[in-house]
Order: sequence, then C-alpha cells, then structure tokens
Amino acid sequence: MGADLVISVGDLAGHLERERRFSGTRDVSLRLGDSTVNGPMAVTGVVVGTVDGVQANFRVVANARLTCVRCLTERDEQLESEGLQHFSVMPDEDGYAIVDNEVDVGETATDELALSIPATPVCQEDCKGLCPICGTDLNSDPCDGHGEDSGSPFAVLKDLFDS
Ligand SMILES: [Zn+2]
Ligand SMILES: [Zn+2]
Repeated sequence: MGADLVISVGDLAGHLERERRFSGTRDVSLRLGDSTVNGPMAVTGVVVGTVDGVQANFRVVANARLTCVRCLTERDEQLESEGLQHFSVMPDEDGYAIVDNEVDVGETATDELALSIPATPVCQEDCKGLCPICGTDLNSDPCDGHGEDSGSPFAVLKDLFDS
C-alpha cells in the first residue's frame, strides 16, 4: 500500500533535463489537538533531476476532521498543501535521501500534510462560541438569560426575592 509514492530515480539523479510525473495515494493517521486526518491522502507531482540528486514538487490533498475551538462543532474540511523536497544520496536534516535509487515522496507529503493541519480551527471567522455560563451555542441561539449578577451566588437569592 502506498508503493506508488516510492519513485525510482536512478535514471533521473544528476540529469537536469529529466523528470518523472507521479500520482498516488497513501493512508495516513495524523492528529493535532482535536483535529485528525484518518484516511487516504492523494499526492501528485513531478520529480526532476538536480546536480546531486532529485527534487520533488508535489501537491497533497486529504480530508481532515476539525473541531471548532470556540463552539466545539465538528466538521470535515479538505486540506491542500504544496511541498518541495530535495533528495540526494546523503540524508538531509530531516532524514530524506535517495535509498536504493528510490525516493519516498509519500513520507515527505505526510510531513507536509501534518504541517497544514490548523492548530486552532474555527468553524467561521466570527464564531461566537459557547455561552460560558449555560453552554448554549451562541451562533444559533442568542443567549440573553443572564444578567450582570450571573455567576454570583447572590444571583439565585435575587431571583427568589424578585419573584
Ligand atoms: Zn464555531
Ligand atoms: Zn447562557
């Protein structure tokens, strides 16, 4: 599974004019906070020869399950990101390298996808969130049931005296 994202580059490395297009999918399982990506990511791109190796230009797309940090509503959103990764026979600081004349673009695409997961997703820019007192979703229900005394132990007593 995902072998279509392992690209043979033996005839590309060191040849600037050569390139190979690729596309494939791989199942991934990623999590950032309450946001998750569980399922296939689709990767398309091209691997081109460089002086000392190859460079992969790619686009990665996957569906993420995001939870709004304000109102806690869950929704699916398509994540889309583009990446660029150079490979040579010597591993770079992230460990990417040409191994046995092959490069694994699925690995670098997974890293790119992980970086594109929003750290603090919101369902909409002006999400009003939940009422801190009664928990009502303020987007659908304008909660105005609490006066200034809300939260104070005397609020209950005041209600008693008022009625
Ligand atoms: Zn929200
Ligand atoms: Zn409320």
